[in-house]
Amino acid sequence: ATADIGVTGLAVMGRNLARNLARHGHTVAVHNRSPEKTHSLVTDHGYEGTFVASESMADFVQSLKRPRAVIIMVKAGKATDAVIDELIPLLEEGDIVVDCGNAHFADTRRREEALKEHGLHFSGTGVSGGEEGALNGPSIMPGGSEHSYEKLGPIFESIAANVDGTPCCFHVGPDGAGHFVKMVHNGIEYADMQLIAEAYDLLRSGLDATPAQIADIFREWNRGSLESFLIEITADVLSHVDGRTGRPFVDIVLDQAEQKGTGRWTVQTALDLGVPITGIAEATFARSLSGHAEQREAAREVFPTTNELAWAADDREGFIEDVRKALYASKVVAYAQGYDMIKAGSDEYGWDIDRGATATIWRGGCIIRARFLDRIREAYDENPELPTLLASPYFVKAVSDGVDSWRRVVGDSARAGVPTPAFSSSLAYFDGLRRRRLPAALIQGLRDNFGAHTYLRTDTEGAFHTLWGSDKTEHKA
Ligand code: NDP
Repeated sequence: ATADIGVTGLAVMGRNLARNLARHGHTVAVHNRSPEKTHSLVTDHGYEGTFVASESMADFVQSLKRPRAVIIMVKAGKATDAVIDELIPLLEEGDIVVDCGNAHFADTRRREEALKEHGLHFSGTGVSGGEEGALNGPSIMPGGSEHSYEKLGPIFESIAANVDGTPCCFHVGPDGAGHFVKMVHNGIEYADMQLIAEAYDLLRSGLDATPAQIADIFREWNRGSLESFLIEITADVLSHVDGRTGRPFVDIVLDQAEQKGTGRWTVQTALDLGVPITGIAEATFARSLSGHAEQREAAREVFPTTNELAWAADDREGFIEDVRKALYASKVVAYAQGYDMIKAGSDEYGWDIDRGATATIWRGGCIIRARFLDRIREAYDENPELPTLLASPYFVKAVSDGVDSWRRVVGDSARAGVPTPAFSSSLAYFDGLRRRRLPAALIQGLRDNFGAHTYLRTDTEGAFHTLWGSDKTEHKA
C-alpha cells in the first residue's frame, strides 16, 4: 500500500480534486464505478503526480496506507450510500471515510452515526468553488472527529485556496458541521446573487442604462468595499455580447432562474431552527417566481406595466451611489442572517463552530469570496459572541452611512413597480430588529383572544390570559 489518500468518483469534481492532490505531492489512489474515467484520468494527467489506479473497490482500498482516508466524490444522495455500503466491509477500524459531495447535513449526521458502529471515522466535508476550485484550490469545510482532522487537515490545507498565507480550510466541527456550513454558504450565495441582480435591474430601468454601461458601474464598484468574485463576474456577463445575434448576452437568456436545491435546504432548515434568514429566503423564492412563466403571463395580461424607463435618471450619479450603498447594506444583512443561522445550528447540534474562522476560509476558493469577509472575521475576532453582525462597529458605520440611500432606493423602486424583494426585505429586517416596540404585542393579544395562548406582560412576571368572551378580566395562567 503506497497511497496517502484515495478518491472514488472521478467525474469533474473528483477528477480535479485528485489532480490537485497529486500536484501537491500526495500519492493518490483513484477509482470510479465505470473504469473508463479512471483510465482517462491517468492517461491525460498521470504526469502531474503519482496516481495509483484501481478498477475494483477492493484493490483501491488495498492500495491505501493505514489509517486509510477515502474521499467519496459521487452524485450526492443514494450513490453516496451505495459507495459507503461497498466500502464498509473493505475498511478496517480507524479508517476514515470522507464525503466531499453536496450532502444534506442530516444525511451526514446519519452516516457518521452508522460508520461509528463499524469503528470508522466519517468526515462530511463541504467543498466549494466548482470544478475550477477543486483543481486550483477550493474552500474546504471538513466536519467529523478531531481524530480524522489530524490526518485530513494537513492534506486538505495543502490543496485548499490560500489567502495571505492562510489556507481556506479549517476543522468546522463534529459530524454534520462541515456540510451545514457549506449549505449556509450556498444560501448566502443565493442572496448575494439576487441582490446583484436587483441592483442591475434598478440601474437598467432607473437610468435606462445599457448592460455594457452597467458592466462599467460594477467594474468601478469592484474597486471598493464591494470587491468580490461575484461583482467581478457580473461585469463580465453584462459586457458579453451574444455571438449569434449581436445583442447583449443578458437580453437573450431566458429570465427563469434554476436551482439545484441547496437554497431550499437552507431555508427549510432555517424554518426548523427559527432563524429569520429573509435575504436567502427571498432570493430562493425570487428564483421560483421567475420560473412560473404561466402565472407571470396571466398577471401581465391583467396588470399591464408601462415598463417606465429612466425613472431615476434626474440625478444619475446620486442614484448609482444610492444603489451601491443599498446593495452593501442589504449584503451586510444577508450575511448577518447567514451567520445567525450558523450560530443556531451550532447551538442546536453542539458543534461549537468558530464563525470568524468560517469567514476566513470563504475568502478564497469559493463563489462568495470577497474583501468584505475580512471585516466579518475582524468583527468575530473582536467579539466571538457578537449577538448580530449588524452590531459590530464596522457594520454599524457601513449600514448607518447607507441607510438613507437604502430607503430611497426601496421607496423609489416600489413607486416605479420594480421588484426588489431582497433589498426591501433586508431593510424591513433591519428596521424590525431596531424598532423599540413591535406589533408582535398585538399578535400575542390575538392569539390569546382566539386560542387562549396566553401572553407575557411588560410590567410583571408570569403568563396571563384574558377572559375575552365574558368580562375581559385577566387571570394568571
Ligand atoms: P456528478 O454529481 O455528476 O456524479 C457523477 C459521479 O458519481 C460519477 O463518478 C459516477 O460514476 C458516480 N456515481 C453515480 N452513481 C453512482 C453509484 N450508484 N455508485 C457509484 N458511483 C456512482 O459529479 P460531479 O463531479 O459534478 O459532482 C460530484 C459531487 O460533488 C456531487 O455530490 C456534487 O453535488 C458535488 N459538488 C459539485 C460541484 C460542481 O460544481 N459540480 C461543486 C461542489 C460539489 P460513473 O462514472 O460510473 O457513472
